[in-house]
Amino acid sequence: MSDIMRPIPFSQLMNWIIEEHKTQDAIFGVRKMVTTNQEGALPIFDERIETPFGPAAGPNTQLAQNIVASYVAGSRFFELKTVQVMDGEELSKCVNKPCIVAQDECYNCEWSTELEVPQAFAEYVKAWFACHLIAREYGLGSPDGFVFNMSVGYDLEGIKSPKVDAYIEGMKDASGSDVWNECRAWALANLDKFEHVDAAFVESIPARVSNSITESTLHGCPPAEIERIATYLITEKGLNTYIKCNPTLLGYEFARQRLNELGFDYIVFDDTHFREDLQWADAVPMFERLIALCAERGLEFGVKLTNTFPVDVTRNELPSTEMYMSGRSLFSLTIEAARRITEQFDGKLRISYSGGATVYNIRALYDAGIWPVTLATDVLKPGGYERFSQMAGEFADLDGKPFAGVSLEAVTAIQADSLTNPLYKKPLRPLPDRKVAGKSPLSDCFTTPCRTSCPIQQDIPAYLAAVDEGRYEDALNIIIERNALPFITGTICPHPCGRACERAFYEPEGAQIRASKLKAAREAMTTVLPKLRAQAIANDAERNVAVIGGGPAGLATAFFLTRAGVPVTIFEARDSLGGVVRHVIPEFRIASDDISHDAELCLAFGAKVQLNARVESIDELKAQGFTDVVVATGAWMPGSAGLGEGAELDVLEFLEAAKKGEKLELGEDVVVIGAGNTAMDAARVAKRLAGVKNVRLVYRRTKKQMPADEEELDLALADGVEFCELLAPKALNGAVLTCDVMELGEPDASGRRSPVATGETVELSATTVICAVGEGIDASLYDAAGVEHDRRGRLAATSTGVEGVWAAGDCRRGPATVVEAIADAAEVARAIAGVDFNKYADCNEQAGREDTCYERKGSLCRDKRNCTKTRCLGCGSVCEVCCDVCPNRANVAIKVPGLAKHQVVHVDGMCNECGNCAVFCPYQEGRPYKDKLTLFWSEQDMENSENEGFLAVDEDHFKVRVAGTVRTVSVDAVNTGLPEAVRLTIKAVRDSYPYLLKK
Ligand code: SF4
Ligand code: SF4
Ligand code: SF4
Repeated sequence: MSDIMRPIPFSQLMNWIIEEHKTQDAIFGVRKMVTTNQEGALPIFDERIETPFGPAAGPNTQLAQNIVASYVAGSRFFELKTVQVMDGEELSKCVNKPCIVAQDECYNCEWSTELEVPQAFAEYVKAWFACHLIAREYGLGSPDGFVFNMSVGYDLEGIKSPKVDAYIEGMKDASGSDVWNECRAWALANLDKFEHVDAAFVESIPARVSNSITESTLHGCPPAEIERIATYLITEKGLNTYIKCNPTLLGYEFARQRLNELGFDYIVFDDTHFREDLQWADAVPMFERLIALCAERGLEFGVKLTNTFPVDVTRNELPSTEMYMSGRSLFSLTIEAARRITEQFDGKLRISYSGGATVYNIRALYDAGIWPVTLATDVLKPGGYERFSQMAGEFADLDGKPFAGVSLEAVTAIQADSLTNPLYKKPLRPLPDRKVAGKSPLSDCFTTPCRTSCPIQQDIPAYLAAVDEGRYEDALNIIIERNALPFITGTICPHPCGRACERAFYEPEGAQIRASKLKAAREAMTTVLPKLRAQAIANDAERNVAVIGGGPAGLATAFFLTRAGVPVTIFEARDSLGGVVRHVIPEFRIASDDISHDAELCLAFGAKVQLNARVESIDELKAQGFTDVVVATGAWMPGSAGLGEGAELDVLEFLEAAKKGEKLELGEDVVVIGAGNTAMDAARVAKRLAGVKNVRLVYRRTKKQMPADEEELDLALADGVEFCELLAPKALNGAVLTCDVMELGEPDASGRRSPVATGETVELSATTVICAVGEGIDASLYDAAGVEHDRRGRLAATSTGVEGVWAAGDCRRGPATVVEAIADAAEVARAIAGVDFNKYADCNEQAGREDTCYERKGSLCRDKRNCTKTRCLGCGSVCEVCCDVCPNRANVAIKVPGLAKHQVVHVDGMCNECGNCAVFCPYQEGRPYKDKLTLFWSEQDMENSENEGFLAVDEDHFKVRVAGTVRTVSVDAVNTGLPEAVRLTIKAVRDSYPYLLKK
């Protein structure tokens, strides 16, 4: 394997397109083919574009197939990958691989084409010819409805070099070039392959591939050189010219502050490029001169906003020292540059836009007069080129009007929105690791990160499919197989599944997992519950279990064990079931009725309950004949903020009293110490009490380190709670709380920065101080029974080491989540009764949902508020993310007779090891470009690679390397010695996907 790409001859390119279209209803993996509106095509230069967007100069315009895939998905403006005098192997040596990481904001360390300049020219001409043929043949749009825009760099000398000059001249008139002749000859010789293409059409394809150019310069390029290049391109080459501007035009101070405000403060850069790059004061008069120059010649001049943003590599993002940032973190910088340009030039200077464009903002940009828009980051994410298909839907109503200026008012509004819209802000909390352990298997690799991240591995894809199909009873039955508390978890679970969900690469929230669970519970509870009651099993098991505590852990334990036929009695000290959720969590976060529904469910199989029954010792229960005792008493001991002076109110006592409706007199100024979810609850409850004016959350670290869920903090802030970070309370005197002012020190061994006192103090008004730190475990039951625990009362496992004694939930872990309590309950049920929770495990990989999965890929939710679907992508049925995100189409999903799921074949000759597929593969060590069965096009490529893979020797024989052994086999033979999945996959390539094989 190597990063050398092997351009596909035009005959193979067209054969691939035609065969894939005929047999798979797709072209280079793009299923959502777009037919554009020809009448509304927009004039630009002296050409027309049917949609005002397309791929930016970069990975998505490097090879002919990339451009074709973009065209098929609705792109009509193509900024071709930059060409410069340094090319091919010489350039490849300077580009470290992998070179793209697009997980959130995107970084890359690549620049111009990695092909040799004549090869790049050939790719663009092949793409030009192919797009014309398929536009006509498949009726995708008018053959003159798209534009190719050159991009050249980086200095005048290089641009004038014979190599680059031949490229520019060739693009202005490709006729007579070898590649043009190759394309034309193939088309004329293969007219029988087309229904709508004839010789006259082929001869009508214009040899002028491009009449426009974007000038790209390196950082530090002097303004005079930039102007010289543009002048040359305009006057000598007669090209419509755009100058690509760097975001450094905004100045260091502005860029630093803006990125800090939006949460991108961890991105490191200094002012070097800002000092060395084109300055605003030089840019404005230069643009004025170039506008005039173009006007004299009837050409169009514009600016391209913006180039990527150079930043330092500080966290091993890429194997480089500097990298180029793009995507959502760039948006607010680029739109500000657009606003300033619009203001300066009174809206008359045309802006070609690139910098964080997505389906969410592209129409607004267009409506503001900013077009064409080119994209790279967005289409490097899951969904890939099909994200263009959705964007095309935004432009079905184009009216063919030419550029009429940019609206300052509209650009200003977009810029203002970028400061508050979560799309452009980094969440406070780091993104979760969406990966499952291991590397992607050679065959059958599809997996579901949502399930892996769930503490009880719920059958999420299975129940989401049922919800989407309106089968709520099925959905609830699937849910309660592993989750005894669907109402509670459907409401307040911190839902790590949602953050780990593959869909969260599309939009911040991921699939609607938690909400769908609640919906299923609400819709089907009345149907499911009576049927469970009817199944109640006679309690004649040998085990007889006592559960101490009727909170989430106790209820779930009772549910799982009684369902398995084990008798259970719950002893609850209070007068109702539900524990902390019932007695402490405010009603505005979870309704009491919902808690009662879960309690009912947990008692459906006949668990007995003794309320107001405080258990003093485990032995007492053993003496009553219980074989097993499960301690599930929660963590109710008051914590302490350690104030030297003054009294604190315990948070649980406070919340419980408030929930009971007791009259509480807190005074005007309430301070809550702590930053967990309980602290957020306390602050929000306090804010609602009569007489309270100000509520402050005081925390000794920063918001970034707070343990609360970000959405809980947001709700508290929305309620008017003030968050005071880096303050450590030390004494309460009267109504004054004195706090040490802290700062974050150096990171410790775990990388966490501890707060360090600065020596300064501040005083806060505090009529009441509520302590919400470190609620503790009452370990007296453990101590009396000889159960060992740590100094905070916690146990390493649910099995306590004392026979017949178990522990589950907060009293084992310390304050934790409801779903973790259920996980403990499940573990206890497995240990006591061998309960198996896998009844629906296979349903996560249901066949037959392919269409839904493909339908949802590439589509971002445009109206979350009214969305009634789960938005699950069914990753267990169809992953294929590595296929979606590969700009070069080098990973191909194929159907293999004899295997249930699609298999992914990696095509070595199309891969340049950019690494993008590894970023999004759900396996921790997954590198699809190295892990997947690889199709080689030559002996030499196979020898240069260590990948497991195959090479066609003749019609029937393949040279195959698997597990380090190379053998030449007939894939029709039974005893090839190959794993059967490998044999079948190669056979399927030969029989059904022969266009993948190089002829
Ligand atoms: S899209 Fe569906 S299957 Fe994929 S991770 Fe999200 S919830 Fe799970
Ligand atoms: S297969 Fe992976 S590494 Fe290769 S070009 Fe595609 S995305 Fe990049
Ligand atoms: S990204 Fe590709 S290799 Fe990884 S699990 Fe999905 S289909 Fe398999």
